[in-house]
Amino acid sequence: MTAAPVPTVVHMLAAAAAAAPDREALRCGDETLNYRDYASCVAGFAAELAAAIGPGVAQSRIAVVMANSIDTAIAIYAVAATGAQLVPLNPAYTAHELGPILSDADPALIVFDVMLEGIVRELAARIGVARLVAIGGDKRLTAWRGAGRAIDSFPEPDSLGLLQYTGGTTGRSKGVDLTHRAVATNVSQRDALLPSEDGERILAVTPLYHSYAMAMGLHLASHCRGTLVLLPRYHPKDVLALIARERITLFAGSPTLFTGLMGHADFARTDFSSLKLCFSGASALPVETLRRWEDATACGICEGYGQTEAGPVLTYNPRHGLRKVGSVGTVLPWTEVQIVDVETGTQVLLVGDAGEVRARGPQIMSGYRNRPEETAAALRDGWLYTGDIGAFDEDGYLFIRDRKKDMAIVGGFNVYPREIEEVLCAHPDIAEAAVVAVADGYRGEALHAYVTLKDNAGADAESLLDYLKERLTKYKVPARIDTSGAIPKTGVGKIDKVALRAAAANA
Ligand code: AMP
Repeated sequence: MTAAPVPTVVHMLAAAAAAAPDREALRCGDETLNYRDYASCVAGFAAELAAAIGPGVAQSRIAVVMANSIDTAIAIYAVAATGAQLVPLNPAYTAHELGPILSDADPALIVFDVMLEGIVRELAARIGVARLVAIGGDKRLTAWRGAGRAIDSFPEPDSLGLLQYTGGTTGRSKGVDLTHRAVATNVSQRDALLPSEDGERILAVTPLYHSYAMAMGLHLASHCRGTLVLLPRYHPKDVLALIARERITLFAGSPTLFTGLMGHADFARTDFSSLKLCFSGASALPVETLRRWEDATACGICEGYGQTEAGPVLTYNPRHGLRKVGSVGTVLPWTEVQIVDVETGTQVLLVGDAGEVRARGPQIMSGYRNRPEETAAALRDGWLYTGDIGAFDEDGYLFIRDRKKDMAIVGGFNVYPREIEEVLCAHPDIAEAAVVAVADGYRGEALHAYVTLKDNAGADAESLLDYLKERLTKYKVPARIDTSGAIPKTGVGKIDKVALRAAAANA
């Protein structure tokens, strides 16, 4: 069992600054910051934010709309240190996307990249947010470097600490309320299965505004007093170069990232010898992707599972212990996960049977902001209903089949698109695959597959259909295969099934 959790991530950073003040905490390009200065900048900016908002700061919300940078890491911790609720938002969002989220979040202040000045000022005026802090140009949050300030304000652990908008792959964005304690506890829970070593070098490629990078990068780094290497803009060539140059030990990737890196010409000549462990989460990791990555890099991938509503992590394959390929691992400490029947959600199913995954534990959300009905549907009798379909094996390893709403019913049979995606990904010519269901007058629903072929691949739709027919029962074989490689992605690189379903419906 893991040590007692630290009450908030701000306590975690303060402890790192006290224990390892001279250690490199953050690196982005050629710029670095040690833990002493990291804490100093967080304390300095927290004081500025508190002064700007006034006495109600700890009950307010502060939005941060920034791409990955050292300033972003400082801003995230500084907001937490004021006691306010952080609202991290995607800087690539258009005004059309940001508007409804900002008005729902109703922040007292917005911290944003100066490049977004036009969009943010206009939205803020419309929504009525008076306090704006633009970062960039003359305003850098590293201004307190060398000032020797110590973090002297800490949030109340059981107040709301994070308002994380989710729903990128499912349509309407919902704000997930998490307490400061929930966020910090989840770091300790993960460490029980994935014990980090002192001074790891962690690469954060996915954007920090998403729960995955914030949990598996930003907070993990201060927990293990390691170095977080940030990449402002994703390009596979830069990621490969950074892994070698920065002697990265932990790499938190997503399936799309692993696929993208393996498809790059530099992959075969990259030095991966520093890597000790890779994490995969955020969506299902095809078994073939895991095998290819591990064979080529000699570094294992531990797959885990969670969702923003679950703070975010529920299960992981252990770093030391049995890893099961295709499984998302065992349940974190202080967490219960059950499989229940999809129809009523009340019958706990037997080992091996697939049903809806429900969970309870200290990391689970308090609810959705401003959405009592959706909260009541997701949180029932103290359980979070995840909307995912999964099954446990006899060793307590969880296997995720699919999202409940992605399940298709073809000719009366339940079909999990993920199963067909796995078979497609095992084809030597396929780099990536996605399968969605569309309405079909004859079968109820029919499957459409979308694949991205590797360079110089010889396969075409017809040969792929033959390949699938040899491996799958008839009702699971897609009615159509599109080999054009047009697979839409969300801002965090997940396959955008909503967009794909819309495309499939019009095809
Ligand atoms: P988000 O809240 O954006 O992190 O999305 C959470 C959803 O991503 C979960 O409910 C799952 O449907 C999916 N997901 C996350 N990790 C995995 C995984 N390892 N395997 C399959 N699906 C996953």
